[in-house]
Amino acid sequence: MRRQCAYRQQGGEPCRAAPLRDSQFCLMHSPEHAKEVQEARRLGGLRRKREATVIGAYEFEGLSTVDGIRRLLEVAVLDTLGMENSISRSRTLAYLAQVALRTLEVGDLEERIAALEEILRGQRNQRTSSPFDVESSFLETGQKEKA
Ligand SMILES: [Zn+2]
Repeated sequence: MRRQCAYRQQGGEPCRAAPLRDSQFCLMHSPEHAKEVQEARRLGGLRRKREATVIGAYEFEGLSTVDGIRRLLEVAVLDTLGMENSISRSRTLAYLAQVALRTLEVGDLEERIAALEEILRGQRNQRTSSPFDVESSFLETGQKEKA
């Protein structure tokens, strides 16, 4: 059977993490590692605070959307443009432009697919008879022509 951390949460729920070797507790709940865990929490808190500040300063909302990726590229391009002119600055700008082009393409495709899906949804809702009805009436006329 899989070993589980012996710690119980406030509601009595067990902690589902695997315990450390030679301990009945996981790293988070091991009394021997309390200091390290506290320090890690403090650093995590600082990092989150810094992250929130940076997100606010750059109006950057992450890489999960095309708009978010565009924003990141914009920031990178503006920062790079602000640097002293050099071969490596030009190379960086050319590279960012390539990535931006690809991002634009993906964004464009995303919009087109959404538009197509919208049209298909509309057609599906308008259709009152099933496609099989169309098929059978076609067969009937076909048979009539033969006869
Ligand atoms: Zn635990």
